Amino acid sequence: MAEETRRALEARPGAHGDTIFARILRREIPADVIFEDPQCLAFHDVAPQAPVHFLVIPKKPLARMADAEDADESLLGHLLTVGRRCAAQLGLAGGYRMVVNDGPDGGQSVYHLHLHVLGGRQLGWPPG
Ligand code: AMP
Repeated sequence: MAEETRRALEARPGAHGDTIFARILRREIPADVIFEDPQCLAFHDVAPQAPVHFLVIPKKPLARMADAEDADESLLGHLLTVGRRCAAQLGLAGGYRMVVNDGPDGGQSVYHLHLHVLGGRQLGWPPG
């Protein structure tokens, strides 16, 4: 079993309290920040799966996509928009992939909603 899958299965979807991303938002632990505004923070993934791999997270403490509500529609669109802008800024002219892993089956390991943006190499499909 892949290390990421093992981590995802060990993560507890019910433990919605403090996460590593909440600590990054509070600046208690460092992150390589690309962009910040009142709604979100974009920063490089600490274990990149592609030459460029960054995350866009809402400042609102949403644990996972399944917990989002219709009222979060503009926030979710904003995450995609910021991902698009950062991808352009980082030179991903050849394309990129945006991914949200949700829950144990989706391989989510950090229960603070995040958009992955990966690029800089040819990505395979389907994902594992
Ligand atoms: P997921 O498995 O979809 O929940 O993704 C969690 C992601 O967070 C993984 O790609 C991790 O490498 C990444 N990650 C975990 N801790 C940190 C951190 N301190 N800074 C940046 N990325 C992190």
